[in-house]
Amino acid sequence: QDTINKIAAGEVIERPMAVVKELVENSIDAGANMVTVEIKDGGKSFMRITDNGSGIERDDIELAFTPHATSKIKGATDLLGVSTLGFRGEALASVAAVSQLEMITKVKREDVGCRYRIDGGESKEIEQVGCPDGTTFIIQNLFYNTPARLKFLKSHQTEAGYIGSVIERLSLSHPEISFRFINQGQTKLHTSGNGNLKDTIYQIYGRDITSNLLTVDLTSEICNIGGFIGKPVVSRGNRAYINYFINGRYIKSNIINRAIEEAYKPFTMQHRYPFTVLHFHIEPEFIDVNVHPQKMEIRFTNERELYKTIYECISDRLAHREF
Ligand code: ADP
Ligand code: MG
Repeated sequence: QDTINKIAAGEVIERPMAVVKELVENSIDAGANMVTVEIKDGGKSFMRITDNGSGIERDDIELAFTPHATSKIKGATDLLGVSTLGFRGEALASVAAVSQLEMITKVKREDVGCRYRIDGGESKEIEQVGCPDGTTFIIQNLFYNTPARLKFLKSHQTEAGYIGSVIERLSLSHPEISFRFINQGQTKLHTSGNGNLKDTIYQIYGRDITSNLLTVDLTSEICNIGGFIGKPVVSRGNRAYINYFINGRYIKSNIINRAIEEAYKPFTMQHRYPFTVLHFHIEPEFIDVNVHPQKMEIRFTNERELYKTIYECISDRLAHREF
C-alpha cells in the first residue's frame, strides 16, 4: 500500500531521543496539556514520560503495541496534515521491541487504570492499578537486546543533550502544553503551558534573547508566518537557534533555511546565525509528499514564491526594527 511505502519502516528508534520524541508526540496527540520527561544516564538506563492525556482503554492496549496499528493515519496526504503528529503506527511496537517497557494508563471514565509490561517485545501482563488519568511510560535499558545499537550511542551527556533539544522544540511548537524535563533528578526545563509563545521562549532561553525579539505576523497566499525573530545583536555562532515549525511539526527545509539566513545577511557578521522561532502554515497542496517524513525534510511545489515571501517578510522586519 502506498501509504505504507511512504513510511520508511524500521529505523524508527535510533537513540533515546527518538523514544522521547515519539512518546511525547503521542502524548500531544492524546490531548495532554502536561508532559513530564525524566531520564537517567542519557536515557539509556531509564526514561519516564508522563502525560495527562486521554489514556488507553484496557482493550486497546495490546493493539497499540502491534506494528502499524494506528488509529490516526488516513492517507498519504495525512502524513503532512496538521491534525495529528503520529503517522507510522509503529513507534510503540518499535520501542517495546528494544527495551524493558512498563506502561500505566487510565481513561477518565474508569475508576482504575492498567499496568502493562512488555520486555523485548514479549508481553508480560496487564494488571489493574490505581493511578491518575493519563499515561506513563517507563522505558528501561534501551537496546539491551541489540548490543550493536547500544554501542553506537554517544556519552550520557551527549544523549541527554539531544533529548533536551527535542523537548525544547516540542515546547516551542506547543506553548499550550506544560513541559518538564528532568535529567538525573534535576529540572532542566519547565514551561508554563500558558499558550504564550514569548513566555515559552523566555522559559527556555532566558532574558537576553527574550528582550531582543521582533514579532513576525504575516498572512500571504501561500503561507502564514507567525512567531519571533531575534534582533541581530542576539545572533549566534551556530545554526542551533534557528527554530521553525511547518504546520506544527519540526521539519527541515533547505529553502526555508536559505530564506532566513539570506534575509539576515545584510544585518549580521559572517558566520553569525539568527535566533528564530517561527511557525509556518503552508497548505498541504503546496507540500511535496514524495519525500521521507522521517528525515524531517520536505519540499514545496512553489519554492521560489515561498522563498521570496519568507525572505521579504524577515528582511522587512529587520529593516524596520527599533533599537
Ligand atoms: P501512532 O502514534 O502512529 O498511532 P504509535 O505506535 O506511536 O502509533 O501509538 C500507537 C497507538 O497507541 C496510538 O495510535 C494511540 O492510540 C495509542 N497511544 C500511544 N501513546 C499514547 C498516549 N500517551 N496516550 C493515549 N494513547 C496513546
Ligand atoms: Mg506515535
